[in-house]
Amino acid sequence: MIKLHDKYFKPFLSEVQILDAVKSIAEKIASDYKDEIPVFVGVLNGAFMFVSDFLKEYQYPCEVSFVKLSSYQGLTSTGIVETLLDPPDNLKGRSVIILEDIIDSGRTLKELVHLFNNTNVKEYKIASLFYKSTIYNGEYAIDYVGIDIPDKFIVGYGLDYNELGRNLREVYQLNQKHMINLVLFGKPGAGKGTQAEFLKDKYNLKHISTGDVFRYNIKNGTELGTLAKSYMDQGDLVPDEVTIKMLQDEVEKNPEASGFIFDGFPRTTEQAKALDTFLVTKSMKIDATIALDADDEVLIQRLLERGKVSGRTDDQDESKIRNRFEEYNEKTAPLQEYYEGQGKFHSVNGIGAIEDITHRLGKVIEEL
Ligand code: AMP
Repeated sequence: MIKLHDKYFKPFLSEVQILDAVKSIAEKIASDYKDEIPVFVGVLNGAFMFVSDFLKEYQYPCEVSFVKLSSYQGLTSTGIVETLLDPPDNLKGRSVIILEDIIDSGRTLKELVHLFNNTNVKEYKIASLFYKSTIYNGEYAIDYVGIDIPDKFIVGYGLDYNELGRNLREVYQLNQKHMINLVLFGKPGAGKGTQAEFLKDKYNLKHISTGDVFRYNIKNGTELGTLAKSYMDQGDLVPDEVTIKMLQDEVEKNPEASGFIFDGFPRTTEQAKALDTFLVTKSMKIDATIALDADDEVLIQRLLERGKVSGRTDDQDESKIRNRFEEYNEKTAPLQEYYEGQGKFHSVNGIGAIEDITHRLGKVIEEL
């Protein structure tokens, strides 16, 4: 077992297993490309070690280069990929093979495809040393794969956890014995977001607020934002299929998390069931759902106050607030019974000083 920052990792793939996989990719690519001079393009930072060992195994003429995507990976509104290091500009008419260390959900791959679609290469192929087939979205074909691995957070052989671990010769996987996952439950204004901010630091958890993710998307004018906006403006719930997909993406973006606080999700029985099913596929589960209790008139006043500073239009209009409460009573309240049925439902008094409420929540969490 090794420790990097705050987390423990256990051995997963040996150096021999990795080098065998590298060699077999090199042999396959050689048999397809030995009659021309391909350009290998490594994706920094993670792929540097793979690229180096790969080239030692590739016995024919070739060129090598690198790209680096920005850490705010994503397409701009004009469909351009943000890069820190661009593809070389002499790729015209060449066969390019992109060397990736790992493909998981496929998000980075999508950026790469956009990037190389804008070049005038003859063709480009994708080779990935590691591949998480169980979570890959399948959008593009992956031409050469080294090792199919389960959906575990890994480090070593170029891959990092917050920049540590890249220099390991072997691959390690996160030891996730102590994970806690919480649902914060309660009406709009109950203080879920405020409390989540404290709890996430105290228990080292990742806070996912579906409302915040939607607002972020609206602000950035994404497709998801446009879709959600009309519902949110009225205080209606965004449709389940949209919200569930988004939540799953958020969880998958944080494979190294030592637990999650779900804030504002689930809000319907469908979402709760989908969450349970999804977590099973990750060997995870909800440990507790904790409700913050407060009465409606207090909450309405809180929301109207918040609306003056937050700029949230759904907080500024009492009829929209009342509609959010109706949505809650009709669609979200039944979840209490759902979680009681699983023996996971707890509630604390949500009225009082912020730190007193944090303390009440902490007591529930520490007894889990
Ligand atoms: P919140 O920030 O949690 O108050 O959420 C603001 C708005 O985002 C809600 O009124 C809904 O329109 C939308 N929203 C947030 N979470 C969900 C969810 N789990 N399901 C459906 N809509 C949601």
